[in-house]
Amino acid sequence: MTEVVLDAVNKVYPDGFHAVRDLTLRVPDGELFVLLGPSGCGKSTILRMVAGLEEITSGSLWLSGKLANHLPPRERNLAMVFQNGALYPHRNVRGNISFPLEVAGDNNAESQARIVELSRALGIEETLHRLPSTLSGGQRQRVAMGRALIRQPGIFLMDEPLSNLDAGLRTELRLEIGALVRSLGVTTLYVTHDQTEALTLADRVAILRRGVLEDVGTPQQVYDDPATMFTAAFLSAPPINLVRAAVRADQNDGAVLGIGDQQLSLPWSDSRAAALVSQHGSFVTLGIRADAMRPDSDGVISGRVRTLEFHGHEWLAHVEAGVVLVDAEAFREDQPQQTREAGRPGLMRRLLRTTGLVAEEAP
Ligand code: ATP
Repeated sequence: MTEVVLDAVNKVYPDGFHAVRDLTLRVPDGELFVLLGPSGCGKSTILRMVAGLEEITSGSLWLSGKLANHLPPRERNLAMVFQNGALYPHRNVRGNISFPLEVAGDNNAESQARIVELSRALGIEETLHRLPSTLSGGQRQRVAMGRALIRQPGIFLMDEPLSNLDAGLRTELRLEIGALVRSLGVTTLYVTHDQTEALTLADRVAILRRGVLEDVGTPQQVYDDPATMFTAAFLSAPPINLVRAAVRADQNDGAVLGIGDQQLSLPWSDSRAAALVSQHGSFVTLGIRADAMRPDSDGVISGRVRTLEFHGHEWLAHVEAGVVLVDAEAFREDQPQQTREAGRPGLMRRLLRTTGLVAEEAP
């Protein structure tokens, strides 16, 4: 049972920079937990504090129920893989993976069998005799993972392990990492700045900004019900539409949102309408993802399509709806009949209707 708990943890670097603020997190045994945020938000600092490579300024770190603030790294039962997966250049793949076993005096027949088993799981069984210089970047990262996992750590820490690989390999290895750590049942903390990587890989994800925890939950929870505007924006590609709206509660119509000179009604049956009642008379920021804007005859806000972008599986329409500019996605079957021409919005032939927004044909 390897649980990681951070309780009100702060990190202030010697130069006074406050890198992590009052961070409280609980990662239960066997969870694949992703730390996500933009560069400099403190992800690596958190990982390094868990690893014992960075001192905790205040707060507590508990590993499997044991206070671990001052526990030496080698007594933490953890292993770590970094971005570049640095290997010992003069040792072949087998020698790299077996290195931690040799250091621990644990290099016996049983552990040799484990090397073969693990290298098979990592897809590098054929490379055991080769030197790191003869491997591809993806293979080197697999060897680094093998070396980290060979002693069956209770906690596996990964700091942007895929960031030096090309896009195709990243997707492939991401799937394999997920399958491998889940099959091993090892508690994993995984750092990335890539929201797709986080959403596809994580059991749960924490979103950080300037050392502060903004949100934590399953990928679906943080995507569908973000706790903060930052989370909503950070998890969205294309960027989420953030629209200022005046709130009015109406006995008949439900909550009415005034967007520029247009109105969007949410009937009382919509749970968000009830939540908006207390905001009557004030302004709110409405977040609408482009993928929530779908062709639909019930659209109530109209606008003009300014540009269309072809995204392979769908079109992205940039729509001017009165005072606001919003993005909407259209399925391929709703694509305009004529070829798009940059700067020629008038080519949009069909009426794009979307929930909450109707994009009208431009003149
Ligand atoms: P990246 O994805 O770019 O690695 P990160 O989210 O992992 O970013 P950290 O490396 O944890 O961020 O750094 C968090 C902040 O702390 C950054 O502003 C960084 O400049 C600062 N920082 C890191 N190490 C030190 C240090 N030794 N002394 C002072 N400030 C530091």
